Amino acid sequence: MNEYDLLVVGSANADLVVGVERRPAAGETVLGSDLAVHPGGKGGNQAVAAARLGARTALLARVGDDAHGVLLLDAQRAAGVDTVGLLVGGAPTGVALITVDPSGDNSIVVSPGANARLTPDDIRAAGSLLAAARVVSAQLEIPLDTVAEVVRTLRPGTRFVLNPSPPAELPAEVLAACDPLVVNEHEARVVLGDAAGDTPEDWARGLLKLGPRSVVITLGAAGALTADGRTDSFVRVPSPRVDAVDTTGAGDAFTAALGWRLGLGDDLATAAAYAVRVGAAAVTREGAQSSYPTASELPPEVPSP
Ligand code: ADP
Repeated sequence: MNEYDLLVVGSANADLVVGVERRPAAGETVLGSDLAVHPGGKGGNQAVAAARLGARTALLARVGDDAHGVLLLDAQRAAGVDTVGLLVGGAPTGVALITVDPSGDNSIVVSPGANARLTPDDIRAAGSLLAAARVVSAQLEIPLDTVAEVVRTLRPGTRFVLNPSPPAELPAEVLAACDPLVVNEHEARVVLGDAAGDTPEDWARGLLKLGPRSVVITLGAAGALTADGRTDSFVRVPSPRVDAVDTTGAGDAFTAALGWRLGLGDDLATAAAYAVRVGAAAVTREGAQSSYPTASELPPEVPSP
């Protein structure tokens, strides 16, 4: 019996957002709006998204011994995430300094802080947490060595889901464990380089050749493409049509929902059909974690074409 449907291993950041008339040039100072502080980071986002849907979820992450760390801990607890794996100290909590202009364009500086201090040793010390999860999900806002240690620590039968964001070259050992590798168009193109091709089906074929057991490509308003390397089946999964207000964190909500449903036994296309409903709901509200739906708030399933 698994204690957790989903264990997320990843980053937790405080997003510090200021609205400006104009983003400053070098040497310039501009005045902005009141500061807004939001819980973020891809790991924290995924954990909140899954817990809000009803998944038994834990987060393995590191924050600083500071006020931002407390804010992030509170946000996870409020969503129902088990924070037994939230480690504290070693560096300040990771922050994203975000300025947004009236057209919605933003400039972002990320200080990884404690996220960069989530080490392979931390993973080894969390062996019992990893062993208690059906599905383990990771991203790349923590060190790649740490993600590689997660893969080595997995028990046979535990499913591993990776969103390689921000995209980086991945060791064969990590790629081989992914079931699925989840990418958006940008991440697919970076991982594939010049050999990417033109269509999502091309990207999926190219990504499968790198070694993951399966691949999911998110396609924004168009939904997602699933590609299962075992059966060589490719399925286009349309997204419900919604009025998009803010797409921040939609991919994180999608990936968390996908991982959770796979752990419950859904096949890849069925899990993706659920995840696109979660992603679509997330874009109808402002923010990342604040936009994530409960199961009863999802738009209806789109009938397959
Ligand atoms: P990311 O947020 O990582 O860039 P995408 O833009 O592909 O990833 O979005 C992830 C998922 O969120 C999509 O697969 C889809 O389910 C949902 N989504 C994103 N944008 C929209 C939109 N405009 N309308 C409906 N669903 C959307």
